[in-house]
Amino acid sequence: GQRMLDGRTILITGASSGIGAAAARLFAAEGAAVMLLARRKERLSDLVDEISLAGGRAAMVTGDVADERDVERAVAATVEDFGRLDAAFNNAGWAVAGVPLHETDNAVFDRIIDVNLRGVWNCLRHQIPAILATGRDGAVVNTSSVAGHQATGASAAYVAAKHAVLGLTKAAAAEYGELGVRVNALVVGSTRTELMEEVLEGTPALEKSFVERSVQKRMADPTEIAQAAAWLCSNRASFVTGAAMQVDGGWT
Ligand code: NDP
Repeated sequence: GQRMLDGRTILITGASSGIGAAAARLFAAEGAAVMLLARRKERLSDLVDEISLAGGRAAMVTGDVADERDVERAVAATVEDFGRLDAAFNNAGWAVAGVPLHETDNAVFDRIIDVNLRGVWNCLRHQIPAILATGRDGAVVNTSSVAGHQATGASAAYVAAKHAVLGLTKAAAAEYGELGVRVNALVVGSTRTELMEEVLEGTPALEKSFVERSVQKRMADPTEIAQAAAWLCSNRASFVTGAAMQVDGGWT
């Protein structure tokens, strides 16, 4: 039968590991042509090879989402290689473990904001025109977090940035709804990725508390988050916009 993302071209940021890499594999398996953006070249090229070998369509651009020129280049490369941009999964993000606010370096605050918030801003600015030029069933999915609607014990800068991603998502949804671009956010719960490994850093108590806060008493596999992103990027979600979709195992 028809696959969920047949005929769609999707840009994925933060595609070199974790949720983004899982999304790249899944979206390609569901029929999308995927453009992968992240900083680590080796990781991306291995993933492009893997997807191509499996019969999918993938290409890559290395770059930093905090740098507008890199994002602009990735959007241009997508249109050049695949002829269109239907959707984007703005997933790149970075967190540090709970350093007290008053002990956080301003440079760390700046970087957290630049990657998690300005990164999404840069993406929207450059993706929206390309999506509008493609057609009237566009979709953007931004990765927020349970830290995007409550203080989770993550760093205050990260909590602020992920809250802002939800605000930006709603604003963009309101502006572009009538023009045919849906904009949604994923409220992601604890997921087993490299980022999570870094945040836990062998702290069994923190790991236990994250597991306990899910009513399912476990963390997610990255593919479980990617499944929701795939659906939101697809036309199956044609009347869903401005939503903050919780994919958090029932976080309490
Ligand atoms: P990973 O560290 O596994 O993946 C993060 C990805 O983002 C990597 O591909 C990394 O690639 C990329 N990335 C980081 N910084 C930049 C940058 N400046 N420019 C371009 N790419 C960048 O973590 P996750 O998969 O867990 O994280 C994905 C998203 O999910 C993030 O937004 C995170 O905040 C969010 N999230 C994760 C949760 C979890 O429990 N894991 C919970 C809630 C939200 P590279 O280093 O090659 O650039």
